[in-house]
Amino acid sequence: MPTGSGKTICYAVPALMKPKVTVVIFPLLALLLDQVERMRSQGLNFCFFMSDMDEAEREIQTKVIRQPSNRPNLLFHVVAKKADGKEAIVSLVKKEFPEQCDIIYCVERKDTIDIAYHLKTAGVNAVFFHAGMDVKSKQETVESWKLGAAHFIYATVAFGMGINKPDVRFVVHHSMPKDLESYVQEYGRAGRDCNDAHCYIFFRFEERTKHLPNISSLPDGDRKWVSLNGLNDMVKYCIIPVCRRQQIASYFGDGGAGINCDKSCDICSSGNLEHPIDFSDDAIQILNCVDSMRQLQPKVTTKLLVLTFHGSKSNAVISKGLENVNEYGKGKNKFSEKGLLKFIQCLIIKNIVHEQLPSANENSTTPYLEE
Ligand SMILES: [Zn+2]
Repeated sequence: MPTGSGKTICYAVPALMKPKVTVVIFPLLALLLDQVERMRSQGLNFCFFMSDMDEAEREIQTKVIRQPSNRPNLLFHVVAKKADGKEAIVSLVKKEFPEQCDIIYCVERKDTIDIAYHLKTAGVNAVFFHAGMDVKSKQETVESWKLGAAHFIYATVAFGMGINKPDVRFVVHHSMPKDLESYVQEYGRAGRDCNDAHCYIFFRFEERTKHLPNISSLPDGDRKWVSLNGLNDMVKYCIIPVCRRQQIASYFGDGGAGINCDKSCDICSSGNLEHPIDFSDDAIQILNCVDSMRQLQPKVTTKLLVLTFHGSKSNAVISKGLENVNEYGKGKNKFSEKGLLKFIQCLIIKNIVHEQLPSANENSTTPYLEE
């Protein structure tokens, strides 16, 4: 159950009704601390015991009972991530959200430490949280953030379950989440007081490949397919110029085109909406190009495909004889190199151009393409 939908009442009411001891087991430390504080603030006699367990090693299977995905007070943005994105986060925070209460999510622990340090040196009051910290540090971090002594928390996704802080004004993902379910759960911590709150993703297509080894290590079957589609739907949300609010609503079956965004996402407010153009012939030529290239060079990366289809004379193309394939240079007049890259990325996430998923023990996570 998501926060705010009644978990506490399930055990608090029986505990109040019966003159006996109630034992409640919490999966996450942050959740335990939050609940203890809330129970005590209600005058309940509540003590707790913590085990120092690495939460990251615990796979918590959460069956989410969803609330409607459309929350009008949330504003959605996706920002193209340049370099490591840290400078952009610093300037965004300083310019738009000074002295406000926020969460920044990172995929990796080292990023939480790194970004918190980066912001502290820029004068922003920040703390970090990840599953590998000891219990005392976690407790202190959560407390200082909840009390407002630190305005920003930089956290891996281990942080957040059960944290009920209503005035979070800004949730930013330093990297794209693995699917829309995770994203909705994580940005769901923003704006619970019903005042405006902003949800940002710093996005770079190449970071999608970080998630591929985990997916390819799953046994072949439905779960693998669902995970890959989930990842691709997350990428679609970031790159397709369709209202973000409508995309989320339609993914969760809460309506789609009927949702009124009222310019509360960056796509609608920029007026940069998608107008359908038929690119079928280009898609067919690109598939043929992959086929021709693979006869000369089995390892076709997206980059090599762009160079070849765009007619590049670079060494990467010429040294492999790829200037001899029929489709060499066919995309030159229609696309810029950047536009062609984006088009091929769309073909990948729509399962038109296929990938050989890299395995977890390969050095490179760059997937090779197949037609
Ligand atoms: Zn919109």
